[in-house]
Amino acid sequence: MRDTEFIRGLLRVEDPWDVTESKLDLKRNRVDVRLEWQGAGRCPKCDRECPKHDHRERVWRDLDLAGDQLFLHASVPRIDCPEHGVTTVAIPWSSGRTEFTWQSPYN
Ligand SMILES: [Zn+2]
Repeated sequence: MRDTEFIRGLLRVEDPWDVTESKLDLKRNRVDVRLEWQGAGRCPKCDRECPKHDHRERVWRDLDLAGDQLFLHASVPRIDCPEHGVTTVAIPWSSGRTEFTWQSPYN
């Protein structure tokens, strides 16, 4: 099993999101996980497939993983729904986790 598959299961990441990269930094006691939206954009209000408008880089701090700080990074798409306008897609892991702005090591 690849480490991204392991992390995907651990974090309960579901389609259309996928874990594409993970980094363990032993010196700084931190794990950074990259999540990416795969496939077409869907409106979170009507579930219609919509064209992507743009995306925004966002970072969440999750519960520590075996004593290491765990950060989730995602380029979150915004879609342009003909009925609901420009809207951010659903982010299943965001509830209960703290989002903050921080420079991603993936940039
Ligand atoms: Zn819509």
